[in-house]
This record gives sequence, C-alpha cells and structure tokens, in this order.
Amino acid sequence: MDSAYRYEQDTLYCEQVALADVASREGTPCYVYSKSAILRRLRAYQEAFGSTPHAICYAVKANGNLSLLRLLAEEGAGFDIVSGGELFRVLKAGGKASSVVFSGVGKTADEIAYALDQGIYGFNCESEGELALIDTLAERRGVTARVAVRVNPDVDAATHPYISTGLREHKFGIDIAEVEAVYERARALKHLSMEGVSCHIGSQILDPAPMLEAAGRLVALAQRLREKGFDIRHLDLGGGVGVPYRPGESSPSITEFVTALCALAEGSGLRVLLEPGRSLVAEAGMLLTRVLYRKRNGKKEFVIVDASMTDLIRPALYGAYHGILPLRRAHRGVIRADVVGPVCETGDFLARGREIDNVLPGDLLAVCTAGAYGFAQASNYNARPRPVEVLIDGDNYSVIRTRESYDDLVRGE
Ligand SMILES: *Cc1c(COP(=O)(O)O)cnc(C)c1O
Repeated sequence: MDSAYRYEQDTLYCEQVALADVASREGTPCYVYSKSAILRRLRAYQEAFGSTPHAICYAVKANGNLSLLRLLAEEGAGFDIVSGGELFRVLKAGGKASSVVFSGVGKTADEIAYALDQGIYGFNCESEGELALIDTLAERRGVTARVAVRVNPDVDAATHPYISTGLREHKFGIDIAEVEAVYERARALKHLSMEGVSCHIGSQILDPAPMLEAAGRLVALAQRLREKGFDIRHLDLGGGVGVPYRPGESSPSITEFVTALCALAEGSGLRVLLEPGRSLVAEAGMLLTRVLYRKRNGKKEFVIVDASMTDLIRPALYGAYHGILPLRRAHRGVIRADVVGPVCETGDFLARGREIDNVLPGDLLAVCTAGAYGFAQASNYNARPRPVEVLIDGDNYSVIRTRESYDDLVRGE
C-alpha cells in the first residue's frame, strides 16, 4: 500500500482524509486518488534522469481524467497517446501538443491529420503503410513529421501474455532485424524526419532486465542508423516499471531503473523518452465499494459488493490480484471468500478465495492499487453508470468526475 494510505485507530485514511467519509458523502463505487502519491512518483522519474536530456510522457491510457492530466502537465510531464480522443483530452487539460508522442498500431488518417494540425512532438510508427500515410498527410499540410519507428526488439517481457508486446509474433512494432531496411526505404518520404527509435515491450514488468536489454539493443540500433546518415536524436523506451499488487511482491525501483537506462544512453547524446502510465498512478488509487450481501453456496462464501467488473475489469480480464481492505477494521475475525459484483457474469469478481475481514452488509471496502487501468477500462455493461472519481490533496478532496446518471447512459441514442 502506498504511504499516502494508512490506518489510524482502525480507520483507513488517504493523506488526511478518512475514506469512509468520502464513501458516505460521494457514494460507492468511488475511485479515490492521492495527489501526493502521483507527484512523488513523477518526481522520482524526473530526478533520476538528472542531467540526461529526457521527457516523461505519461501514458494517458492508464488514467485519462482531465484533472490528473492537468496536474501532470503542470509538473512538467508530456504525454503518450494512442488515439485522437486521448490527444483531445490532453489539449482540454491544458497539456501542450508539442509534448505529445503518438503511439499505436492502428492510427487512422483522421487521427494523424488531427495530430499534425495540432503540432505534436512526434509519431511512433508501427508499419510502412503508416509511414506512407503520415508522409502524405504531412505533405498536404506543408509540414515535416518527426518519426520514430517502433522496433520489436524480440525480448520476452515475462509479464501477462495480454500485456506482453515485444515478441516477434506480436502485432506491435517492426522486427529489429528488418527495421534498418525500413529506415532506408523511408528516405524517399520527404515529409518525414526519421529522427527517433522507439520500443515498448510490455506492461507490468517486474524484472527490469528485459527492459534494459531492449534499451541496449535500441542504443546499438540508433548508432547503426547514425552511421548510415540518419540524424537519430531520441530514444523512446516505452512504458514504465511494474508495480506491486500482491503482498510481498516487489517492483523495480523507479530510481534504479532510470539510472541504469541513463548509463546505457550515456555519451550517445540521445534524448531519452519514457512513457510510464501504471507506475505513476496505480498505487495512488483505490476503488471504494460497499458490501451489499453475504451469501453461501455449498462450501463457498461470497461477499457481494456494489463495485464490479464494469468499474475494475483487471481481475476478470487478466486474473489480476488487488488487495482488499476494510475502511474500518471491525475486529470480527477473518473469512475466506470470493468478492463479487452484481454483474451477470461468472467472471465478475474482484477477488477469489481471499482472506478478508469478516465484513457485514453495509461495511465499506477498498480495492487497492486501482489507479491505473481501472476507471480507464470502466464500461456501462448492464447499464451501470460509471463511478465518481475523487482527488485527495492533504485534508481536502475534490470530485474530479461526477458519477454518471441514468440520463448519461442513454445520451446519443
Ligand atoms: C500501455 C503503453 C504504455 C504504458 O505502459 P505502463 O506499463 O502503464 O507504464 C506506454 N507506451 C505504450 C506504447 C503503451 O502501449
């Protein structure tokens, strides 16, 4: 649990705010985020880079709430986007287009045109078809687009198969063995400036070795491209480190990871870009939920709560583990139970076979480490309004997104 969260006399606090108070005032399910926990991690990245030229481009897909984007922009972050909608969010939040890199395997012509018109920093390109399309759209506008080809370095990130992206058989990037020929052919595209190399081998990586291995391969590639006359200026190494979800799980230190990266890039003169998402916001967030019922089916004990896979899909989608804590410790002993939501799917669980406090209907629980890929992947399945989001700052909090209403559910139909 992040140090912003702690128990005081059996009551769970985030910074100086008792979470039970937030839950009773704003209702449940409710996402809460600690401002200080987010900023502490952004600063860890920034400080570890020291004098190495760099940019921290927050991966908007982890959590695109405008207030969080505004906070990160004010503190000097840039942004990594994967859609036109994410660019719109960044600009709405006051982020600068010139701080944005555009990643993703399926950018549409409209999205590329929008990004060129807004003047983003650059594109991480994933295919020759995309390079040709960006060149055409840039020519039409009389501009030159900054480009890095996303390389598939063929290292195994050893993470969940759905979020591992750096192997030859994945849809992402261009094989490192073939990429130099792609740069050569791109010489004919006069409205592209081929000035970067990029990669992203996966998310929730708990062993930094494969990420450093990929970084080493990219530094060497940048050197080979320079020898061929390409003016390679930056290296984009993709997402950040993994975070601890399970008790006792240890994650790489941001400082050590970045220090090792800087050592690899030292002397190259390359500007190093990182696109951390999860490691900036995951541990800063919790999902608050209320117990609706207790129920026993055969030998199995169920705790039915008002949050579900529509609010936090990670357990259902990846079999992910999230810690579950009571907002008030009642000292009634512990039970082993499945914590499940109201959605009509057997996959709708937040925890399975978990030892938790012996809760009763009406009690409040926190689902931990929910700040990343939580609200961002929330849906309206079962016509469930998406939850309220709250940002906690010291002894204050503000609602940064109101709970959806039934009217919101049918808007546009
Ligand atoms: C998802 C993603 C990220 C963010 O990864 P985290 O593990 O959340 O830091 C960064 N870059 C790209 C291209 C991504 O797809």
